[in-house]
Amino acid sequence: MSTTSGRLLNDWTVRGSPLLIDGELITCDERFETIDPATEEPIGRAADATPAQLDRAIAAARRAFDESGWATDLALRVRCLRRLRESLVRHGDELRDLTVREAGAPRFLTHGPQFDDPVAALGWFADVAESYAWTRDLGRAAPMGMPSDRHVLREPVGVVAAITPWNFPHQINLAKLGPALAAGNTVVLKPAPDTPWCAAALGRLIAEETDIPPGVVNIVTGSDHGLGARLAADPRVDLISFTGSTATGREVMRAAATTLKKVFLELGGKSACVVLDDADLAGACSYAAFAGITHAGQGCAITSRLLVPRARHDEAVEITARALARLGCGDPSDERTVCGPVVSARQRDRIEGYLKLAAEEGGSFATGGHRPDRDRGFWIEPTLITGLSGTARAAREEIFGPVLVILPHDGDDDAVRLANDSPYGLSGAVHGDPERARAVARRLRTGTVSVNGGVWYGADVPFGGYKQSGIGREMGVAGFEEYLETKAIAEGA
Ligand code: NAD
Repeated sequence: MSTTSGRLLNDWTVRGSPLLIDGELITCDERFETIDPATEEPIGRAADATPAQLDRAIAAARRAFDESGWATDLALRVRCLRRLRESLVRHGDELRDLTVREAGAPRFLTHGPQFDDPVAALGWFADVAESYAWTRDLGRAAPMGMPSDRHVLREPVGVVAAITPWNFPHQINLAKLGPALAAGNTVVLKPAPDTPWCAAALGRLIAEETDIPPGVVNIVTGSDHGLGARLAADPRVDLISFTGSTATGREVMRAAATTLKKVFLELGGKSACVVLDDADLAGACSYAAFAGITHAGQGCAITSRLLVPRARHDEAVEITARALARLGCGDPSDERTVCGPVVSARQRDRIEGYLKLAAEEGGSFATGGHRPDRDRGFWIEPTLITGLSGTARAAREEIFGPVLVILPHDGDDDAVRLANDSPYGLSGAVHGDPERARAVARRLRTGTVSVNGGVWYGADVPFGGYKQSGIGREMGVAGFEEYLETKAIAEGA
């Protein structure tokens, strides 16, 4: 183990970012350029892995799981995870810059879920693994008259394919890597084509600053989504841990069916923020505006449907529109920015398609609805859409941009009905009298709910979706256990 010298990104602008395969950092001949979404300036040319390189990565992960002591050496795993956390902390300033540049993430978020929190969570998963009850004694029984001593063992699943999106690169890469490694699995991580750099930086630190054995973590970046499809279909993979859109989640599940792999899916959402009639309307709507356009609305659990009491609808529109206009969008490297650019021209065009659709469906814009007047980068103004029915596509489908839809409700039951009238079930928020708000929260068919501004995000909190928002839970002990198999052993006594 050595210590990485020089700045990760500066070193790479000449040679291109490396892949990590079987413990080696590999510079590819094939590369693809990525650009800063705020400025359209090139970031550099990232490694564009070939199918043959992916194949080597899967083989290395398989070998490391089957032939090394990683799966059984808990002390080594715990030590390596803590070392990786320290290394990421040491390179924190540079990794923050990288996240702002490649994901267009507002810098303030790097002090939370875009960097600091997922890095700290590595330590939490090391602690969980260290204190976990890996073996449980079920005691003696005599089924069919045969006395037996019974134990239940938890074991790693094997080779994990971790396939991740671009919006929160460190959060999602590390929320998979941490528990997968703590549990004793080996991993092939394939990040999104838009964000190869954060993943490649992680690979470099793993190779140069930790004792993680060769093959235990392999990181394969590429411009082709087909790499993910190959990984999902490969028979040497035991578990697919996927975060991305619901449409791709379906593809992944289909691919996994051939070899009946375990699948663990974190998918899209169209979460509701419910404002009850006794809530502090101004506080709730201002909070909803802030939450809805943070990171340009590119968060799966963002509450993008605002459900307000019909009698106070117009007032709510005015407050929310004012708050959105005040927040505006701006340079993500400025600590005060809440809403930066969207990640790519493709994403901007997709959002604009929804804005056009909303207008065709009878909606109007209380604020925003357009690109701001900027020469460079990919931007959408913070937008509030009014006048849609709950059945309009723009009110039901995930837009993944700084766009809120406001809908009136006729009381608590109607608000619950509207909130749950969705194919998704990822998250939600309720504002109002604590007792009533708690009762509404319990009726929402979603994996997480915030009541009166409470924050559910944390390493120890399981996160995931009901319905078409996913299968399984990430983070928390439940997230750790997604990466475990269960074995029962009975010994004749
Ligand atoms: P995406 O589904 O397009 O891609 C996600 C990943 O899957 C990428 O790495 C991509 O290369 C890969 N991929 C694409 N096609 C594949 C295939 N056929 N088989 C296997 N892998 C394939 O999603 P995105 O645009 O990168 O991210 C945005 C989406 O992610 C949104 O829908 C958002 O809600 C969702 N998301 C969900 C969570 C969550 O935890 N629930 C978190 C963040 C983002």
